[in-house]
Amino acid sequence: MGYEKVLRGKIVQDRVFDGEIGINNGKIEKVVEGKNILKSDSIEDYESALIFPGFVDVHVHCFSNPNEGFTTTSRSAAVGGVTTFLDMPYDLPNPVNNVAFFNDKVKRLEEESVVDICLWGTISKTGGLDQIIPLAEAGAVAFKMSTFETDSYRFPRIPDDEILKAMELIQETGLIVAFHAENDEIIVSLIDEYKKENKVYPRAHNETRPPVSETTAVLKLMEFAKWTGVKLHIVHVSHPRTVELIEYFKSTGVQVTCETCYTYLLLDVDDLDKHGPKAKINPPLRHREDVDGLWKHIMEDHIDLISSDHAPWEEEHKVKGNDNIFLAASGMPGLEIIAPLLFSEGVTSGKITPEKFARLMATAPAEKFQIQNKGSIKEGYDADFAIIDPTQSWEIDEKRFNSYSKISPFNGKIVHGKNIASFVRGEKVYDGENVLVDPGFGKFVPGFAYKEENQVRG
Ligand SMILES: [Zn+2]
Repeated sequence: MGYEKVLRGKIVQDRVFDGEIGINNGKIEKVVEGKNILKSDSIEDYESALIFPGFVDVHVHCFSNPNEGFTTTSRSAAVGGVTTFLDMPYDLPNPVNNVAFFNDKVKRLEEESVVDICLWGTISKTGGLDQIIPLAEAGAVAFKMSTFETDSYRFPRIPDDEILKAMELIQETGLIVAFHAENDEIIVSLIDEYKKENKVYPRAHNETRPPVSETTAVLKLMEFAKWTGVKLHIVHVSHPRTVELIEYFKSTGVQVTCETCYTYLLLDVDDLDKHGPKAKINPPLRHREDVDGLWKHIMEDHIDLISSDHAPWEEEHKVKGNDNIFLAASGMPGLEIIAPLLFSEGVTSGKITPEKFARLMATAPAEKFQIQNKGSIKEGYDADFAIIDPTQSWEIDEKRFNSYSKISPFNGKIVHGKNIASFVRGEKVYDGENVLVDPGFGKFVPGFAYKEENQVRG
């Protein structure tokens, strides 16, 4: 009798304590301090390993590279302790900018995933405003837009007048609008100049996207947010100056949050010289003093959460940039390694506490994006956990990634701390060696503006 399952170990939430978690029907029913208190026929004792709330990664691209998809990406997530992720809308061939595409994606997700997934929505470059309310009601978790044109159809730059109108509508839904914030004119003209002068070495990617191209894009958006009252989120902040501007706007009452990515905390522009296309991401890797500046902001609680910006490209999309960095695809796979790497560089190294790690990687992402019952070890919440053994060290081997993208500038790095188990809704989905559930186990997690009665679900 007792609980269906009990987990025992060092529980990490607002503090770290030896305790037990009683699980019934996929939910956390009881959390207690101490040992041998909760009864169950199925007790898993993790001893001195740390039981974290399952990590929530708000920034993942399953279909920017359509060869990838939900199955390999969600298996990568399970291995890395990411039990819920938010999939970006810039899919190839079609971005998720209407309800029909959105519902198709929900169906596919529930057939192919092994962890739980929320879906972002977006709007077309012009004329897409009427899809905002329907997408919110279909269960979009948030809306993503860009001030930089990566692709005029799939990943467009939205004009300012359209951004303002979209923000007014999104404000009504109560959902977040998030931006890829880079200044298009500055970057396009610098890249043209560099190409004409045949300056196509790896570091040219950094030089053509200077910090001012990020800060000025973010400034404009925060002022738009002030006048529309929308909840604004800035994705992949790469420079400490951007965080300072966000802090100022926060202090004046603008509802703005930000994330940085593990890459901007662990790599710098020297890695772009060293690894070339493998280390090409947007915005680019910055200088070492900027990396230190971002860590300082993490320690001072100026950065709300950390994401991976998992964007998996196979080698062929990267090697074409070997002689000209501008030809390489941007992005790298991160779901399998973000949590252990940051644990190693953040917690093991003593920069941040396990509690803060739990906040940045699980609790804050779920809270800010208003994802119900995820991100905390609390009674009534989903029994989602990532269990990290801080005593195990291991070496990153890109060849073993579940993703088809087997290229990483972190290849060969020794990591102190290993994810030894992941649980989704009480089910162990990864045991430290293998993924234990089949595609179809993962569920769609609707955003909080979801209206079930409007949905026709097959
Ligand atoms: Zn991204």
